[in-house]
Amino acid sequence: METTYGLTKESQVGRCSFCDKPDDQVIVLINAIKVPKVSICNECVDMCNEMVMETIRSRRKPRPSSPTP
Ligand SMILES: [Zn+2]
Repeated sequence: METTYGLTKESQVGRCSFCDKPDDQVIVLINAIKVPKVSICNECVDMCNEMVMETIRSRRKPRPSSPTP
């Protein structure tokens, strides 16, 4: 029995763990480094980036009083 790694798309098809799109429907699919079978696609990365930016913006604290020494 011969096993070929990386060539059998059927068994090696990656999917975004967030939106469940297969890797051939996205531009980039990034695999989690430490967690097997967990990936995120570029679209979800974009979405996460937006959410992070939104969160940062909404959490922006009122300017603290300038530290005067
Ligand atoms: Zn995705």
